[in-house]
Amino acid sequence: MSAPVSAPVYNRVALIGLGLIASSMFWAMKRAGLAGEVTGYARSEETRETARRIGLCDRVCDSAPEAVEGADLVVLCVPVGAMGAVAAEIAPALAPGATVTDVGSVKRHVIDAVAPHLPDGVHFVPAHPLAGTEHSGPESGFAELFDNRWSLLVPVEGSAPEAVAKLRALWEGMGANVDEMDADHHDLVLAVTSHAPHLIAYTMVGVADDLRRVTDSEVIKYSAAGFRDFTRIAASDPTMWRDVFLTNKDATLEILGRFTEELFALQRAIRTGDGDHLHDYFTRTRAIRRGIIEAGQDTAAPDFGRGAPST
Ligand code: NAP
Repeated sequence: MSAPVSAPVYNRVALIGLGLIASSMFWAMKRAGLAGEVTGYARSEETRETARRIGLCDRVCDSAPEAVEGADLVVLCVPVGAMGAVAAEIAPALAPGATVTDVGSVKRHVIDAVAPHLPDGVHFVPAHPLAGTEHSGPESGFAELFDNRWSLLVPVEGSAPEAVAKLRALWEGMGANVDEMDADHHDLVLAVTSHAPHLIAYTMVGVADDLRRVTDSEVIKYSAAGFRDFTRIAASDPTMWRDVFLTNKDATLEILGRFTEELFALQRAIRTGDGDHLHDYFTRTRAIRRGIIEAGQDTAAPDFGRGAPST
């Protein structure tokens, strides 16, 4: 747990969109005293009501412009495809000198969609926390989500160094490790580490669903670790992931092209009985897993530390 800081990094933070990431940010900011006041807005009355009921945000507003009024940091926490429209809606209400950031999983598209709406004198520092779960909505957040996870800052041309430094302090205060990255490189890295793997998981679960020779109840009953991990990933929010693929098209297609080539090579090795090829390949991939554990980004415990499956 991060130690509380003596002074808030921002006097007023506005969270636009109140789902998993926004609610986790709120609880993490509260844990460390990083913001004087946090206002929030979500488009549906239902989410705003839930937020009020659970004490998510110091003040829940009924419009996005009202929430950003007087804020020195505005965080866009909506699906990537909705960022542009939200930026257009709040632009006239932004305070001079405010920083606008976002948490979207794709960066080039968000920059192109948001930047044109922001008035002069407002800083724009896009960001992306590499932390999440398959759950969504205002009740899914928790203060520890970002602890020891990476948050990538993707400054745009002209991002003021002081604005970047303050946002870095906020993410560090919320427990994250922070790096800076260029938008296109970010989108390629995430296509490899997150976007293509999600698509593969969605596909594998879809295949199991389609395969009529193995019944759904058998798939559920006998699901071994590999498949169970796929189902967890494939339970992720459909809107968020639809937007990720629509907006990180080129990088995802590049990685999927490479994936298909490798898959064909492995398929061929299986058909021709080329055990050396399979063994060499699996030895190389095992080293990557070791690297992730050594970097402290996962546990080496068997079955990812979850314990034995109940059935
Ligand atoms: P979430 O839990 O599904 O919450 C999304 C929020 O956005 C909700 O408050 C929703 O409002 C609002 N929203 C949805 N569609 C909208 C639209 N068209 N216009 C305005 N508001 C809209 O989502 P999340 O997981 O927090 O994700 C938010 C952002 O973080 C996304 O850009 C995502 O790419 C990024 N991200 C997600 C993860 C992850 O693992 N989940 C990790 C890193 C980054 P209502 O509740 O009123 O419907």
